[in-house]
Amino acid sequence: MENDTTIQQMREYAIEHKVPIITDEGLHFLEDYIRRHSIKRILEIGTAIGYSAICMCNVSPDITVTTIERDDARYLEAVNNVKKAGLDQRIELIFGDALEVYLDDTFDLVFIDAAKAQNMRFFEKYEYNLNEKGTIITDNMNFHGLVFEEEEKIESRNLRQLVRKVKDYKVFLEHNTKYHTEFLDVGDGLAVSEKI
Ligand code: SAH
Ligand code: MG
Repeated sequence: MENDTTIQQMREYAIEHKVPIITDEGLHFLEDYIRRHSIKRILEIGTAIGYSAICMCNVSPDITVTTIERDDARYLEAVNNVKKAGLDQRIELIFGDALEVYLDDTFDLVFIDAAKAQNMRFFEKYEYNLNEKGTIITDNMNFHGLVFEEEEKIESRNLRQLVRKVKDYKVFLEHNTKYHTEFLDVGDGLAVSEKI
């Protein structure tokens, strides 16, 4: 792969600047899923510095990615990285809050990887941009293991509320009869919701 160095540099940058990029295990699952289902059009909520977008795009030369980021520093870093990786023709970077952006396009895969408390709202908004047989994959369903903790043991009130939101989202997916959702203990926990 010609942009191996860019990817390595991005990983180092992420560690140094504490950017929460997807785990290796999560990424391998995503790449494999994209390959197995011949996914071509991807929408990502939460670009960060463009790491997962670039890796997903690299699965096959006919893949295009649209990705949304609201943090200006990260967005600018992503613009640079996408250029360096030579993917600016195939990755569209949108600067803005995903809850305020409107897209007309449809996608084979929506990858939700932004503010965990908003997962349900992202899902309900962007399912309208999903193709007939599309899939929505949500990252960080385990919330670094916090969803398995007894709630009383989590000291910060904010954190407790966030954990509750992740759990509520899980229940929402379990009860959503328009999709079949599998919860995978891969990386930080992935929910794979396939449209029925
Ligand atoms: N997908 C990236 C990691 C994303 S980290 C990767 O694996 O490489 C989550 C990102 O989502 C953060 O950079 C954060 O700024 C962004 N984010 C959170 N809420 C958002 C929102 N409502 N709209 C757009 N971006 C958001
Ligand atoms: Mg994530």
